Amino acid sequence: MSDALKNIAIVGANLAGGYAAGALRKQGYDGAITLIGEEPDPPYERPPLSKEMLVHPDVSPKTLFVHPLSFYTEHNITLRLGVRAEALDLSGKAVTLADGSRIAADRIILCTGGHARRLNVPGGDLGNVHVLRNLADSRAIAAHLSPGKNVVVIGGGVIGLEVAASARMRGCEVAVVEAAPRLMSRVVTPEISAFLELAHRAKGCVMHIGVGVQSLHGANGIVRAVETTSGVQLAADLVVVGVGIDPAIELAKGAGINCGNGIVVDEFCRTSVPEVLAAGDVANQPNPYLNRRARLENVQNAQNQGAAAAASLLGAGEPYAELPYFWSDQFEYMLQAAGETVICDQAILRGSVESGAFSVFYLTAGVVTGVLAVSQPKNIAAGRRMVMKHSQPDPAALADESSDLRKLIG
Ligand SMILES: Cc1cc2nc3c(=O)[nH]c(=O)nc-3n(C[C@H](O)[C@H](O)[C@H](O)COP(=O)(O)OP(=O)(O)OC[C@H]3O[C@@H](n4cnc5c(N)ncnc54)[C@H](O)[C@@H]3O)c2cc1C
Repeated sequence: MSDALKNIAIVGANLAGGYAAGALRKQGYDGAITLIGEEPDPPYERPPLSKEMLVHPDVSPKTLFVHPLSFYTEHNITLRLGVRAEALDLSGKAVTLADGSRIAADRIILCTGGHARRLNVPGGDLGNVHVLRNLADSRAIAAHLSPGKNVVVIGGGVIGLEVAASARMRGCEVAVVEAAPRLMSRVVTPEISAFLELAHRAKGCVMHIGVGVQSLHGANGIVRAVETTSGVQLAADLVVVGVGIDPAIELAKGAGINCGNGIVVDEFCRTSVPEVLAAGDVANQPNPYLNRRARLENVQNAQNQGAAAAASLLGAGEPYAELPYFWSDQFEYMLQAAGETVICDQAILRGSVESGAFSVFYLTAGVVTGVLAVSQPKNIAAGRRMVMKHSQPDPAALADESSDLRKLIG
């Protein structure tokens, strides 16, 4: 470790940032660490925001904060929360904050995540139109969910469908509007989209798929209806917009760091500027499992890549290779997916879709490259190992529920 390394600043005090800070200490770095975050809270898990916290707003979620506050004091990590980092002053070795202060920084890890996209249509800024990215958004949405309320969810991706399920479970009348021809089209195949559509319809959600939003109408500044591009008016007491995130690259761009879809990093999480690394939702990195660059938006990646960036910064890094993975809870269904779950030569179904518990293995040139399971976590565990080991199982055995998956890993 270089003697010159006395101050490390991490911008973005959530999962990737929190894990990067902890990993720096674990790796033996004993200089100053400042974790800078715009949100008022220390690092927390976002998954409960669209799930438990909407369904059971009066119950504390099982997991929320990554560490108790005492962790930061015990590890001598300075938290600067509720303040935005405005610029990286690389020649002056500092990060400047919105309150005018400067944080000394020989090295910087950018873990700035993403901004939830808003709706750029007339009425998109009416009251009771929410995005869902942080604790405040989740609490505001939860406060509006009660039996009989009309909730329109715009966007049939992971977050939109989770909100739709949670709102329905609270007794709301729920409509989902998705512009693409099918649900979750970025991350699952048409068969899985069809399963999700049926599942949501069966629970009473009204699905408007393949139509966009024309405008939102309100009264006294509060949303009252959503008008679709097919001219249908949907009554709305609450609108939740789940149309993806834009990576928060403004600090990096301002410092002349190479950005594209996210901050461009190499396999050691290094940006185009030697003093700066990046990790988490904001980082765009080569992924050996996908054979292309990817910006992964999930908990597991944020944690592992944050820690990997810390190790890399201290010269102890190894090329980072994360198997893409996500999970989603919608009604009683737990969807888990790992690896490449869209592009394949062959999709092998194990179990029956109608039963609501099944798995699909995705093969390319006979090699398992991805797996998706609905309410079958054991199959995901086996499938992940197959992807990592480039297994080439017999397709018939893979489809046969009586075969032992562990024996097919190879
Ligand atoms: C509602 C919801 C549900 C989710 N559910 C799942 C799930 O079930 N499974 C799963 O795997 N993943 C889920 N995710 C995704 C997961 O939460 C993210 O992948 C993860 O939070 C990414 O962590 P991160 O630290 O990279 O970025 P973020 O969590 O976005 O944190 C970045 C932080 O940086 C701060 N920041 C940005 N710019 C600045 C600046 N200039 N100055 C100071 N601070 C700044 C932001 O305010 C933010 O707090 C969910 C996300 C959401 C929103």
